[in-house]
Amino acid sequence: MQLIGMLGGMSWQSTLEYYRLANLRVGEVLGGVHSARILLDSVDFAEIEELQRHGEWSRAGDLLAARGRALATAGADLLILCTNTMHLVFDRIAEAVDKPVLHIVDATAAAVRRAGVFRVGLLGTAFTMEQPFYRDRLAAHGIETLIPGAEDRHTVHRVIYDELVRGIVDEQSRLAYRDIIDRLLRDGAEGIILGCTEIELLISPGESPVPVFASTQIHVAAAVDRALGLTPPGRLP
Ligand code: GLU
Repeated sequence: MQLIGMLGGMSWQSTLEYYRLANLRVGEVLGGVHSARILLDSVDFAEIEELQRHGEWSRAGDLLAARGRALATAGADLLILCTNTMHLVFDRIAEAVDKPVLHIVDATAAAVRRAGVFRVGLLGTAFTMEQPFYRDRLAAHGIETLIPGAEDRHTVHRVIYDELVRGIVDEQSRLAYRDIIDRLLRDGAEGIILGCTEIELLISPGESPVPVFASTQIHVAAAVDRALGLTPPGRLP
């Protein structure tokens, strides 16, 4: 089994899920008391959040690239960046390390395609919903992206930063998210991507009439399958 390097702490609420789900999946596949081999570098999210707020993506990229290099040097065979938003600086990280870095959008897009879905509604931080890095990568997989209207995007973003990354799971916010998902479905979405690693703490994929793609679960599964040699190198996920 290969050693998975996790760049986490963005936020630690969802990194806990990455750790838990990776161990569960290894146990499911190998049985007995098998568990995942993981190296975790958990950053201080306040530093990252400040860089995001000031649009200092280059500095954030340098910081995460340095952490990624440290994981590779420490022996990680493959890396995952445990957040959707910071995939905005994915290229910077991937260039800095000589190990595969499994992109969350590639893994998620593969699951979307497997479900026969070609038009998705995307929920995530404002950066993920509004900047092109996420939807362009989905488009490269032949998937069209719909995003919520301005007011709904504000709500989705606010709930992530004011509640979910702080471990607050609020029933009113769950209802607000459900309404936003309904509006995306009315606009023509055939499936929904939970494109923020904390949203799974609020919304569970089984609750919707259309397929819901939980990026954390999908990303973890891709990493574990790669670590166990269940996916041939070069094929993602
Ligand atoms: N974990 C979140 C994501 O998947 C949001 C926090 C962050 O900005 O990194 O985008």
